[in-house]
Amino acid sequence: MNRCFDAIVVGGGIIGLSSAYQLSQKGLKVGVIEKNFPGFGSTTRCIGGIRQQFSTEASIKLMKESVSQFQQMEEIFGFSVDFYQGGYLFLAYSQDNLDSFIKVSHLQKSLGLDIRLLSVAECLEIVPCLNQENLMGGVYSPDDGQAYPFKVVEGYIQEIKKNNSSILTFLEVSDIMIEKNKVMGVILGTGEKLYSDIVLNAAGPWAGEISKMAGLELPIFPEKHEAFITDRQEHLFNTMIVDYRSDGCYFQQLVNGQVIGCYTPVPNQPGTEVNASRKFLIEMSKRTVRLIPELKKANVLRHWGGSYSMTPDGSPFIDKTDINGFYIAAGMSGHGFMFSPAIGKFISDIIIDDQYPFHWDEFKIHRDCSRTELMK
Ligand SMILES: Cc1cc2nc3c(=O)[nH]c(=O)nc-3n(C[C@H](O)[C@H](O)[C@H](O)COP(=O)(O)OP(=O)(O)OC[C@H]3O[C@@H](n4cnc5c(N)ncnc54)[C@H](O)[C@@H]3O)c2cc1C
Repeated sequence: MNRCFDAIVVGGGIIGLSSAYQLSQKGLKVGVIEKNFPGFGSTTRCIGGIRQQFSTEASIKLMKESVSQFQQMEEIFGFSVDFYQGGYLFLAYSQDNLDSFIKVSHLQKSLGLDIRLLSVAECLEIVPCLNQENLMGGVYSPDDGQAYPFKVVEGYIQEIKKNNSSILTFLEVSDIMIEKNKVMGVILGTGEKLYSDIVLNAAGPWAGEISKMAGLELPIFPEKHEAFITDRQEHLFNTMIVDYRSDGCYFQQLVNGQVIGCYTPVPNQPGTEVNASRKFLIEMSKRTVRLIPELKKANVLRHWGGSYSMTPDGSPFIDKTDINGFYIAAGMSGHGFMFSPAIGKFISDIIIDDQYPFHWDEFKIHRDCSRTELMK
């Protein structure tokens, strides 16, 4: 028997799930195809940070929509996703950092964000246990925060199933069916064909491979990142702390007291290999304790690897493609969890109504990729 769907989503990560949720809310019968289990890719390896402090109008608008949806999730899902607005504090250790925070804050404020440029003393009011050595100031946005990725995944799965749609697990898409430049569906590794005239590529770090199956070359490259989590600590701070130095890191304290964090490896580590390294464990511990000396008494419970999916300019591709009916939402860098509620909504508008919600050049596949995000 041939299975047919109104829309097929390749990838059961947070982007595929939020897109499937929105498409199914609009009445489409959606099939999400996931080669492992939902969240297996980057999604359940992420640290759950959510911020609106970006340097472009489109990303800020995207994140305002996301935050508004995170605020409503508990009501929609019927359980908490641990969404908590404890803020984001970016620390500055050079005049260049401070200047770029000031420059970007004008745009952020003009779009309605509560952005506060802070002296060192004001940074210490937000995080009293912060080591102030070499610190020159910071920028703080109290409305940013965190949520628990596992709960958000669970909520979307629940709602997708309620909407007459399904998540097919442990099935790998091995080819995309195209006739006369129009998508017809996908072929699974089992040989089964699934039919639909809408296919969304939401395969995260593997999105470049899925695009290739459709004959498209898109610059999406996986890169390795690692994270750690400590045991529960007394409540020390509310905010995500971001240290932008080349040997910096970023971390937050979860609502249950655990501290979770990462750093960006220099040089970057291309590929989908996700082993947890001893080097990361040692470095991350040092960098965390350098900022919050009190955390030297914390024990690291676990550390792990995952993939970012990178594009040349750090912004995702959220667009239709040159093949009719074939869409993409991928290349999320370190922002796919926070972007996901808005991306689900906006890609479903693009798919169903052929409408971009606002000036969309930053996310189109045929853009000039030479720009870089100032607040990576
Ligand atoms: C250490 C770390 C920390 C992070 N911290 C944050 C953070 O604080 N905030 C934030 O917003 N983001 C963060 N991120 C980034 C975030 O995790 C990703 O951007 C996001 O999860 C991407 O979601 P996705 O759905 O695009 O990809 P994924 O979650 O990777 O989902 C893609 C899915 O596609 C499936 N798939 C691939 N190929 C096929 C195929 N052929 N057939 C069927 N299925 C297939 C995969 O199995 C996978 O489950 C972090 C990432 C890492 C690694």
